[in-house]
Amino acid sequence: MILHKPPLKDYTEFKMLKMNAPGMIAEKLRAAGLRPTRQRLALAKILFGNGDRHVSAEDLHREACAAKVLVSVATVYNTLNQFTAAGLLREVAIEGDRSFFDTNTSNHFHFYHEKEGRLFDIGTDNLEIKGLPTAPEGTEIDRIDVIVRLKKRGN
Ligand SMILES: [Zn+2]
Repeated sequence: MILHKPPLKDYTEFKMLKMNAPGMIAEKLRAAGLRPTRQRLALAKILFGNGDRHVSAEDLHREACAAKVLVSVATVYNTLNQFTAAGLLREVAIEGDRSFFDTNTSNHFHFYHEKEGRLFDIGTDNLEIKGLPTAPEGTEIDRIDVIVRLKKRGN
């Protein structure tokens, strides 16, 4: 089974947002069923204004502060979770309470550098996974997360 699927149709559409005319972010939030409040708009602009990336809530909070967007960490968390639920972001859970939010919602896999705490995309077009289990009756495989964990050589 080759898991690389063509990017979601929606993603191509969404890419356009990243080159954003100001009104497009509001439009995208509305299309995803989210009211474009000032805070959501400000955070969306920071998140989606710089191409594909992986951010933690702490990263985004830091960037928001630097951009003089005054929001609490809790608000950043809530907003990230709302964006994820609306399909604008994909959450990549690393362990326990550590998550990254990926602005690229298409099907792809990740390297995680444990020491550096850095998550980045595996650059291959195709990653083949063999021997997938059959989904139990009444269910289907929704998606498969692959995180290849890295450490420095020699440790
Ligand atoms: Zn990614």
